[in-house]
Amino acid sequence: MPQVLAVWCEAEGHDVFLAYHNSYQTMTEPLPEKLDVVFISSFTQSAQVAYALSNLFRTKGALTVLGGPHARSYPEDTAKYFDYVLGFTDQQVVNNVLQDLTQHRPLGMYLSATQQPKQLPGVRQRWKYIDRILQKAPWLKMVAAIGSFGCPYTCHFCTDSTVPYQPLDFEEIKADLRFLLKTFKSPIVAWHDPNFGVRFNDYLSAIEEAAPPGSIRFIAESSLSLLNEDNIKRLKKNGFLAILPGIESWYEMGYKTRAGKRNGLEKVHQVADQINTILGHLSYLQSNLILGLDCDYGSEPFELTKHYLDLTPGNIPGFSVLTSFGRSAPVNLEYQRQNRILPIPFHFLNNNTMNIRPKHYTWIEFYNLTIDLREYAFSYPMIYKRVSATKSPTPKLIKLFQSLSDRSKVKYLKEVRRRLEEDKQFCAFFEQETEEIPVFFVEQIKKDLGPLWEWLPEGALYHDAYAYLKTENTPDPDLVRVSRSQLPPRSS
Ligand code: SF4
Repeated sequence: MPQVLAVWCEAEGHDVFLAYHNSYQTMTEPLPEKLDVVFISSFTQSAQVAYALSNLFRTKGALTVLGGPHARSYPEDTAKYFDYVLGFTDQQVVNNVLQDLTQHRPLGMYLSATQQPKQLPGVRQRWKYIDRILQKAPWLKMVAAIGSFGCPYTCHFCTDSTVPYQPLDFEEIKADLRFLLKTFKSPIVAWHDPNFGVRFNDYLSAIEEAAPPGSIRFIAESSLSLLNEDNIKRLKKNGFLAILPGIESWYEMGYKTRAGKRNGLEKVHQVADQINTILGHLSYLQSNLILGLDCDYGSEPFELTKHYLDLTPGNIPGFSVLTSFGRSAPVNLEYQRQNRILPIPFHFLNNNTMNIRPKHYTWIEFYNLTIDLREYAFSYPMIYKRVSATKSPTPKLIKLFQSLSDRSKVKYLKEVRRRLEEDKQFCAFFEQETEEIPVFFVEQIKKDLGPLWEWLPEGALYHDAYAYLKTENTPDPDLVRVSRSQLPPRSS
């Protein structure tokens, strides 16, 4: 989306500079001294970095705008730190910002289109920005592309479950792929569709028409329900290297995995068979599971996952903990009504720290089971099996590095568990007896932000974890919501 924004701003006659903040302390390139307006796109886990950057740029005289998943999830919080907060963002919304360009402080102006854009600038229009990233990428040079928004499925935790499925123009996709073939040697395209291949035949026909089999390599995230053997063979023929399906749970969401009403052990066997079939054709597969769902009781779901890993040695698991991101999904209202949300700083909402009190576990039980599962999944014997079961050298290496990186996260989880047992302040925070952020979290953020810590605005470590529920009942009068027609026309 930052590249898309850059194209839209240029179309309005602005000079645009695009920078990537790729670690907590390094910009990819030095920014120009004088900036009039800074657009930042951020996930929630990098929100504190975004807040500090906004403060820094505002001090230098710039207006700041936040878009992306964090802005959509937490508009009340972000309005405190930005002049504009963007929900669904299309070219008209961006033009409205560019025409208004006024300080909105202390609370920013919220702007949103009614739906996702109907069309986006493709690879051709974004090429000068893509090319700069590719020049800097160390070895895996991937081009981001998207062919659809939203999803027809209704997974209750997912932000895309409420966004209607909408394919983008297949002719544009074909033109982009043809352009890439002429412009870049051996491209790898990473599809950013929330659920790739919902209109499988149309999508694959477009790819087949534009790119001879294997001339472009692809990566995509897709549901197991779409990945029958015929579809997998077709994906392989067309250069798909990696696929990332979501299983999520052994007890729910059978519609995503073709498991239907099968649950527990039966679902494990059915899914494992399908995963092994896919691995017979594609050499990289990451299957995603969510830990701590409300349907989980006791050790059984964790033991089932271990059994599943034994049955699918070539598969790499992706574990996330159940997380509530503000307004991102309707189910979050229910968690807030049940008073189960903890105001864990955004910085830690990165799939490793759960901010919803588990329904059927104490915190210690949950951490014990999670640590045990991760230790099993990323033990050296399991890593060895995973790598040995993979033939191609690049997927072998990726699986090795990814497994070692996941293995290192266990240390953090163990530290959290230790503190739940020994650190009174930490324990009181998790038991919802206090909202004071534990020193452990504050120190970690300070360390990760480095020089940006100095720019983190007062109070930005805290957020109202119940803002969604409060504004649902009584709309926040301080948060300005403006429709397009209410904005002033562009001055000459
Ligand atoms: S299938 Fe994936 S993208 Fe679709 S609603 Fe479920 S989690 Fe979201």
